[in-house]
Amino acid sequence: MAYRYLFGPVPSRRLGISLGIDLVPHKTCTFDCVYCECGRTTDLTCERREYVPTDGVIAELDDFLATAPDLDYVTFAGSGEPTLHSGIGEIISFIKERYPRYRVAVLTNSALLTDPEVRAALMRADLVVPSLDAVSEEVFLEINRPCPGITAGRVLEGLLDFVREYPGEVWLEVFIVPGQNDTEEEVLRLRDAVAAISPDRVQVNTLDRPGTDIRVRSASPGALERIASTLGGNAEVIGTACTDRVLPPKIEDAGEVILATIRRRPCTPGDLAALLGIRPAEVSKYLRILEDRGLVEPVQEERGVFYRAT
Ligand code: SF4
Repeated sequence: MAYRYLFGPVPSRRLGISLGIDLVPHKTCTFDCVYCECGRTTDLTCERREYVPTDGVIAELDDFLATAPDLDYVTFAGSGEPTLHSGIGEIISFIKERYPRYRVAVLTNSALLTDPEVRAALMRADLVVPSLDAVSEEVFLEINRPCPGITAGRVLEGLLDFVREYPGEVWLEVFIVPGQNDTEEEVLRLRDAVAAISPDRVQVNTLDRPGTDIRVRSASPGALERIASTLGGNAEVIGTACTDRVLPPKIEDAGEVILATIRRRPCTPGDLAALLGIRPAEVSKYLRILEDRGLVEPVQEERGVFYRAT
């Protein structure tokens, strides 16, 4: 079966071996974050609907999970906001009922947590990783560039309602954009918000690969450590190391797999080798071919040369 909505399994920085589920078309999102690794949001929306057929996603999951793969998480993520899909609750319930051994994680930008239906849909997930990048309205607008009607105040309100109701684990992610949310004032506001949310973990992140806006740079490791210690007891800086428990891609054609991976997000040759379980020399060979065909291009970044789709 060729999968349209599943990707991976991929070695995730935070979640180990993770099978990804992408429930919305590329860059359908409630935000258009300046740091987004997937490019500009092309469909900026707050409209919840069945963007891809719920039955189709369930059929793919049933096909893949029936093979009893070794996974740490089945993760709702991808190149847009998964809670925009109106069937996410049904899909989570399917996994928990049919394949209870698998832990389910949902990565969300928190924008729709004000909606009681969205909160109810996530109740059966084992882990929710919501984002909170800003508390003040002006910083929120600058970083997250939300769909009209979404405010920083409402996002925080939704998050607080969610953590009051949700029985599972919550890892709050704070993405630091130097010059925007790393000021003392904003970090202190974030600290107060973190204290009110009281998540199981706080993860401080920064740009690791080229983002939407080329002017956005990474925060330094020292700055991240300082921010993490201000945010509170359990805040940690996320490392970049990938687990080495790699499953080889199902598709035979490595060039296609590499191109599909780069289309989702820019990667270094090393990332691709680790992610796909392909020897580095093979990765380089395919990257040269894809570059000669004008399908990918290299971009020099602090962490090395990233390849992105043209
Ligand atoms: S980073 Fe996430 S929330 Fe922000 S625009 Fe990209 S997909 Fe949407």
